[in-house]
Amino acid sequence: MSTEIQSYPKIFIGGEWVQPHSGRLIKSINPVTEEVWAEVAEADEIDIDIAVKAAREAFYGPWRRWTATERGASLRKMGDILLENAERLAFLETNDNGKPYRDTLGEIKRSAEWFYYYAGAADKIQGETIPNNPDSLAYTRREPVGVVGAITPWNSPISMYSWKIAPALAAGNTIVIKPAELTPVTSMEIARLSQDAGFPPGVINVVPGYGKVAGSSLAKHPLVNKIAFTGEYSTAQSIMKDAAVNLKRVSFECGGKAPHIIFDDADLDKALTVALHSAFRSTGQSCSLGSRLFVQRNIYKEFVKKLINRVRQIRVGMPLDKDTHIGPHTSKAQLDKTLQYIEIGKEEGAHLAVGGKQPEEFTRGYFVEPTVFTEVDNQSRLAQEEIFGPVLAIIPFDTDEDVLQMANNVQYGLVAGLWTKDIKRAHKFAADLEAGFISINTYRPIHWTLPYGGYKLSGYGRENGLEALHAYTEVKTVVVNLSDELPSDPFK
Ligand code: NAD
Repeated sequence: MSTEIQSYPKIFIGGEWVQPHSGRLIKSINPVTEEVWAEVAEADEIDIDIAVKAAREAFYGPWRRWTATERGASLRKMGDILLENAERLAFLETNDNGKPYRDTLGEIKRSAEWFYYYAGAADKIQGETIPNNPDSLAYTRREPVGVVGAITPWNSPISMYSWKIAPALAAGNTIVIKPAELTPVTSMEIARLSQDAGFPPGVINVVPGYGKVAGSSLAKHPLVNKIAFTGEYSTAQSIMKDAAVNLKRVSFECGGKAPHIIFDDADLDKALTVALHSAFRSTGQSCSLGSRLFVQRNIYKEFVKKLINRVRQIRVGMPLDKDTHIGPHTSKAQLDKTLQYIEIGKEEGAHLAVGGKQPEEFTRGYFVEPTVFTEVDNQSRLAQEEIFGPVLAIIPFDTDEDVLQMANNVQYGLVAGLWTKDIKRAHKFAADLEAGFISINTYRPIHWTLPYGGYKLSGYGRENGLEALHAYTEVKTVVVNLSDELPSDPFK
């Protein structure tokens, strides 16, 4: 990598690169070197206002005149452009975020699928005719909600842009994207690449900035019709208050503390491989992490022993190195949070089985060892709170009733997984687990076709699949009177 600082001094509004009002730059830290490696323009409430107005002008202007098929064609082109630029984007993302290059590359290639899926769906958004009365024609239209404000987190930036841009634009909306201040770099590249996809100016606007300034003014702006947010539930609560100003539509994808349940009749080799990856992928910086692993008591000892052996083989390393399994945390704040929870786990009396500190071989960088606590109490903070780091809490259980009760006894409800060969048990748990996405004999196989989102504090609304498309539309009901009879006149 060149040692020169990557500079993105302008924001993208109305199809043009403009100076931010503040004149300031956000400094982005490379989590390996702990040094500034990129600078990105910092938008404030004035820039947000200009961006929202540009998005509104595009919504009522050229974008409205595009057919749905034409919108789909540009989305497909955007998917192609992502693939053509995948290596460069992955390189930038890895430097900004610390996720291994092989993961960011895979993620960007997968993101193209969101554009292809919603490109195909764009001209299949249709209303219904409703047989409510023989003397009337009643039908619904699905119309775009208008200007969408997308507020995204730092852990998987390009996925999060794709999950929001593709369905929002397919449904005919325009969008203002406020990326996370910790990882803003690839949002600037997405803005640049969107110009080649042929969207009219103002359809996609990108305004990096801080959450409490740029994010909050987007949520408050009276001309924004919907906020699509991914991040912490406490931020969602604040956005909900801000969005109340004009009763914006909101969708929230928040955190999780997913139960991952291994029954004694499971295919234990498969379950072990998947449980390991699910608990430590992306250095634990994933909302769907299988962070509470419930293992049935009669297989507990053997299963946990094997899992710990595998954890010792996870290669923590330089994210650009192709052999690395997990890179550093994205930020010092996240590293500190993980280390703090490791201390909490020890104080709470859980058994620290492996990991628990920063690896000694690195003199700098936000690295941390994959860490496992066993004999964890489900009521402890270690088991109840989202750490967002590579810290696995393993909890033994005896019966189906016990594990169901413990699995649901948490404030989150994003995903849950279970491993069993008993089909009755599998479907009973699928029905009774309080989470928006249940995996049986697999773990969170996220896919563009599958609605994804949470119960409880894990969110509100769903992303992905046709469910997400509908959430970017308003339903309008139209009734046409076909009768020649005089209307009844109650005031006569
Ligand atoms: P965060 O809530 O701190 O920030 C997310 C975004 O919100 C950022 O762009 C930030 O600038 C902005 N923001 C902050 N304060 C704001 C405010 N007052 N008003 C408006 N916007 C504001 O979250 P994070 O730390 O970036 O991300 C980690 C969280 O995201 C975790 O809880 C994780 O589980 C969750 N997450 C969920 C999913 C999912 O799909 N469910 C996916 C990824 C991450």
